[in-house]
Amino acid sequence: MNISNNILKKVGLIPAVYLHIPFCKKICPFCSFAVRRDRANLHGKYLQAVIDEISRRAEMLKENEANENGKIISESTPLKSIYFGGGTPSRLTLKEVSALLDQLQEYFPWTAQTEISFEMNPEDVNSDYLSGLFELGVNRLSIGGQSFQSSILQQLDRCHNSADLRQAVKTVNNSPFSNWNLDLMFGVPEQSVASFKNDVEEALAGDPSHLSLYGLEIHEQTSFGKNKLIRKWETEHQEQFERMYLWAVERLEKAGLFQYEVSNFSKNTKEGRNNLLVWSGQNYFGFGVGAHSYFQQTRWGNVRSLRKYHQLLGDKNWPIEFEEKLTKKELASESLMLGLRSSEGINIEHWLDSYELCWSKEQVAFVQGLCDEARAFWKADYLCLTPKGLLLADRITVQLMPGN
Ligand code: SF4
Repeated sequence: MNISNNILKKVGLIPAVYLHIPFCKKICPFCSFAVRRDRANLHGKYLQAVIDEISRRAEMLKENEANENGKIISESTPLKSIYFGGGTPSRLTLKEVSALLDQLQEYFPWTAQTEISFEMNPEDVNSDYLSGLFELGVNRLSIGGQSFQSSILQQLDRCHNSADLRQAVKTVNNSPFSNWNLDLMFGVPEQSVASFKNDVEEALAGDPSHLSLYGLEIHEQTSFGKNKLIRKWETEHQEQFERMYLWAVERLEKAGLFQYEVSNFSKNTKEGRNNLLVWSGQNYFGFGVGAHSYFQQTRWGNVRSLRKYHQLLGDKNWPIEFEEKLTKKELASESLMLGLRSSEGINIEHWLDSYELCWSKEQVAFVQGLCDEARAFWKADYLCLTPKGLLLADRITVQLMPGN
């Protein structure tokens, strides 16, 4: 599958915007995102703050551009992608979503061609809400299903059960949305390979245009991270996780969902645009608590606390927790990592030339070893990882960075 489609052509200075909605009905024990328990009376102030952040970024951009070449933002190319992530964006009312999109339009123009993706939890899916979103211009959904087995959903302490998810899938299929993703999770404590296979089969029967498969990650600061039994289970079942993943990659490919990145599978041309833009190194702005941005080789992340976010914006400061200008070496490493994680692989000669790097004899031998173990292969000048190699993508990136 060719993922370098039109989406990556004719992109403006800022082709992608991410909007973080931190509210969740309750906090899942494995979640490490910037989230907080939802209360409807928090929405108004938060959305106003997000709009404030958006308008100030647009202002900054205008000044930048005026300084550089006299262009102004209103002349810029419309956004290719808007992504509502969280948290749970479906905690917002349609009126709130509408207000946010209207305000965004004033500063970062979008059109009917913009992909507007919206994360939802199954318990929030109903036909009125979906029709309303569609009318507002949302054209892609992402459903946080995780599993069709109630026992696994209980283990994850989710708000929905298997019946809710089945109903949500039905409702989406009877709605105007044909472009939608389903998230599935593997590596959950007590989840057997057979149970995961059933999840994948049931997901395929629901006919989503995109599937994201996430291995459960245990983060220290979460309830799961503090649970010794869960950590032990994770350490002892690595081999089982690998079997689940490798089986799923093969099964999804047979079903016509092609892997375009370690965790992401889609029908042809239905790759998530936000993913493609961010992973190809385009600039993007993230707004809201915990949101990350990348602009002109500088990356920053917003504060995760709602209180601090309001305070900093109220004081006319940027609500930023960290900011870093990437060094040439960091840019090289990031481009290698993103290339290796994608199905297209990376043109190694071009990459080495662009960053004025050279592989050592050991690194050349390491790549040969990966090919011998069927973890990697060459497609002309492109080095690609097989599913077995993708499981080690982070480690392989470190080994292939000259100077490491
Ligand atoms: S619903 Fe999603 S974002 Fe919210 S706490 Fe659970 S995993 Fe985190």
